[in-house]
Amino acid sequence: SPVDRYMQNLDSTLTPPITTTNNNEPMRACFVVLVRNNELQGIKNTVIQIEARFNKRFHYPYVFLNDDYFTDEFVQEISSLTTAQVNFGKVDQQMWGYPSYINQTYAASQRADLAAQGVPYADSESYRHMCRFQSGFFFRHPLLDPYDYYWRIEPDVDYHCDIEYDVFRYMKENGKKYGFNIAFREYMATVPSLWQTVLDFKKAHPEVVKQLPRPKDSLWNFVAGDDGQSYNSCHFWTNFEIASLDLWRSNEYLKFFSYLDRSGGFFYERWGDAPVHSIAAAMMLKKDEFHFFNDIGYRHTAYTHCPTEPIYRDKCSCDPKTNFDYDPGLSCYTTFKNALR
Ligand code: GDP
Ligand code: MN
Repeated sequence: SPVDRYMQNLDSTLTPPITTTNNNEPMRACFVVLVRNNELQGIKNTVIQIEARFNKRFHYPYVFLNDDYFTDEFVQEISSLTTAQVNFGKVDQQMWGYPSYINQTYAASQRADLAAQGVPYADSESYRHMCRFQSGFFFRHPLLDPYDYYWRIEPDVDYHCDIEYDVFRYMKENGKKYGFNIAFREYMATVPSLWQTVLDFKKAHPEVVKQLPRPKDSLWNFVAGDDGQSYNSCHFWTNFEIASLDLWRSNEYLKFFSYLDRSGGFFYERWGDAPVHSIAAAMMLKKDEFHFFNDIGYRHTAYTHCPTEPIYRDKCSCDPKTNFDYDPGLSCYTTFKNALR
């Protein structure tokens, strides 16, 4: 059939994942949502789509986290959207606040400098706490203890496609540890010293480096520029992320995060959780542990991943012309493909 012929010509990384077994062992997986009370409408919009496109079939639980207490209205309105279990938690000061070694006066002057360069969220303190939390703490929140995999969702995004298989089971059965659908370039002004700090970490921790895959087996070339001397700015967007919690809970990652945290860059610069996750995963995982979720059409802000293959037209509501993958200036999808080789 034309579809079969089409499928044979497809790049193997783009074929839709197929779950191979009928294994009924329950998956320890959840949605994780960091959100503010005033984003209720936006997150309702996302949850309604997640339920309709995927979770009405699978009933995975949700974990909602906030640096403030969720209001009764928030809890009630969200709980009414799903029959799955929903847990609401507060993030404490140790996961969302200044560590004692941070010089807050210096941090404020650095924020002002960055703001003068016109970088998004340059002057925001809460954005920095958020990025640090998403980099180093969400997976240690007690409400995530029961789980091995998570799918991060955000307010005001769109999920465009029906997803008829269990993505978490797919991850587990195929040895996948990190799944993404948009690869983007970072504003380098937000991470001027990140790469040097990563290199310093590797020098300071040979016992960690020993545990990592050889650079040619890893995805190092997704992030390494200039023969490894600089960061090429590529990262996977974390606003959609399906990944293994064990990846972040490993001794290697915990040492890595705490080294970065100590250096102060989350506050003195504006390190995003996306470059931090991406550089760590590129260092720690083997190439075949990454998965590009081509079949999960998705919009965040002005950028969309929309699968372009004809087989998706009756599953997805997005316009394939909006697909961001090959955007010449901003997409790092081609860098990802090249790094796989
Ligand atoms: P962007 O995607 O980088 O533009 O950043 P967002 O504003 O979308 O924030 C990323 C995620 O963190 C979203 O899920 C937000 O709801 C959440 N978030 C950001 N700042 C805060 C905050 O101060 N408190 C809480 N509870 N959530 C936040
Ligand atoms: Mn966002």
